Amino acid sequence: MRIGLCYTSQYLVSYEEALWVRLPRVKCYGIIQSDFLILPGFIDFTSEEVELTSALTKKITLRTPCVSSPMDTVTEADMAIALALQGGIGIIHHNCTPEFQANEVRKVKKYEQGFIMDALVMSANTTIKEVFAAKSQHGFSGIPITDNGKLGGRLLGIVTARDIDFVEPEFNDKPLEQFMTKREDLVVAPANVTLKEANDILQKSKKGKLPIVNENDELVSLISRTDLKKHREFPLASKDSKKQLLCGAAIGTHESDKNRLDLLVQAGVDVIILDSSQGNSIFQINMIRYIKEKYPDLQVIGGNVVTAAQAKNLIDAGVDALRVGMGSGSICITQEVMAVGRPQGTSVYKVAEYARRFGVPVIADGGIGTVGHITKALALGASTVMMGSLLAGTSEAPGEYYFSDGVRLKKYRGMGSLDAMEHKSSQNRYFSESDKLKVAQGVSGSIIDKGSIHKFIPYLIAGIQHGCQDIGAKSMSMLRSMMYSGELKFEKRTNAAQYEGGVHGLHSYEKRLY
Ligand code: IMP
Repeated sequence: MRIGLCYTSQYLVSYEEALWVRLPRVKCYGIIQSDFLILPGFIDFTSEEVELTSALTKKITLRTPCVSSPMDTVTEADMAIALALQGGIGIIHHNCTPEFQANEVRKVKKYEQGFIMDALVMSANTTIKEVFAAKSQHGFSGIPITDNGKLGGRLLGIVTARDIDFVEPEFNDKPLEQFMTKREDLVVAPANVTLKEANDILQKSKKGKLPIVNENDELVSLISRTDLKKHREFPLASKDSKKQLLCGAAIGTHESDKNRLDLLVQAGVDVIILDSSQGNSIFQINMIRYIKEKYPDLQVIGGNVVTAAQAKNLIDAGVDALRVGMGSGSICITQEVMAVGRPQGTSVYKVAEYARRFGVPVIADGGIGTVGHITKALALGASTVMMGSLLAGTSEAPGEYYFSDGVRLKKYRGMGSLDAMEHKSSQNRYFSESDKLKVAQGVSGSIIDKGSIHKFIPYLIAGIQHGCQDIGAKSMSMLRSMMYSGELKFEKRTNAAQYEGGVHGLHSYEKRLY
């Protein structure tokens, strides 16, 4: 069977019947998401009723089908926490030491809403000068003091702005022990306190911070009044059986990755992605078998693949999901440099169509530039989508904002860019030690500020729900079954149709999305 977009048929009835046809002699091309549209169906439900629950892997289900890329300008703990709260999952990148990566996973797994687990803590010997320096850097309103200057140490007191604001400069080199509010004057809460109880205690005490201590009076976390005011419900949150947020992490297929894997498992990782641009390799197959033998309950995502033949080898080796895409990422120059890859629409459809026979879900990875692209990827058979550029400009992505020509930007780079590969802990997704010369497969650039994940993901969710409503699909499983039964109608989009489908004919306009 030939694969590709059939240009002999303008009106398309289903993927198998017309879009990707069974006519061996017609000229066929691979397609990307912009090449086609989905025809509207019948609506008998509201968009909020559309159920987006979908499988990430054989054993993990998400309420929001969104996954963040394991890239060093996209996913560390802050992104993974925010995305999991919104019902998706973050995959921590591995362009760092195994210890750093495992610690990011630990932060996600230990996260409890409202409880600050990585609070700035000082020792009683810290000087007033150092406290002022920390204040200007972190803008604190209260720093707990413990006997070892760390979380986990015995609580000795707390220093607030009120304690030191009027201290004369000649006391700058004095230890803060003399100025802090002492332990006996503090209101604290026990380690098993609920957020609601903590809220009540804070309200009664009128304090800004509430230290949480265990039975040995050791500081385990902190609750802040300002954070509690911001407290909101996250009914979609992705959680494990112990009610901890779900977190994924990427590793490579080198021998040294086995140690990384052990540290990630100790940190509580839920799912491992084997990060390779061409996943159909003996190295990946061996690694899948190794993980499945050592950690049979750990979910493993293989990839990347773009053909059924590649998928077969990884499915046979035992993967729990497949990551699909080669050369479609926004920062990617793989197709240009390697002459290898496949248009993303075709890749997702072909791999998903094969993998579903084995109950293996597919993640559409790369090239998601709009919410419409997400709906199209899901309609082509993907269960979830992985995004890099779409999430890179959010406040939860690693890195600081900067201004260029008055525009607020963040850095975004391909993991195969020279910039990323030259990083001291580079993990060689695109480059192995035996290579004499690095061949870049990605670029390094910048991306516009998108605000917080907590506003952006709800916009994506609402957008997918509206798209599904127009299609007439009330759930993700219904969307897929409509596609495989031929009920879902696709239509080719000419270049002129694509022009017509965008904003056109205006002198100028402002595009605000939410
Ligand atoms: P985006 O969402 O279109 O920005 O694509 C993100 C995806 O591009 C990632 O999830 C990776 O699969 C892929 N990717 C990341 N870095 C590179 C690179 O340097 N070259 C090619 N592909 C990359």
